Amino acid sequence: MLGAVNLKIMINRDGNEYLTMYPKLRRWINQCVACQREGYKPEMPDDIYPGIAARNLRRYFDPMEVDKDGLCEQCRISTESLCG
Ligand SMILES: [Zn+2]
Repeated sequence: MLGAVNLKIMINRDGNEYLTMYPKLRRWINQCVACQREGYKPEMPDDIYPGIAARNLRRYFDPMEVDKDGLCEQCRISTESLCG
């Protein structure tokens, strides 16, 4: 049996392979410019072609927003605390 940690690594790898197979789905993926973390855009619709793509992206990735500078919320907060 696989442990939870191994399973998470496997899902991340599958997510990247999935995006390699369907590069157009990258438009629904945000990547933080600072920490390189990836997640799907919260505004992604429930169904996008081909059919189960949105469901798969939701399985492989967590929702993640980036700001206009391309920073995820965590990096934005740490940047603000550095500057503030
Ligand atoms: Zn980040």
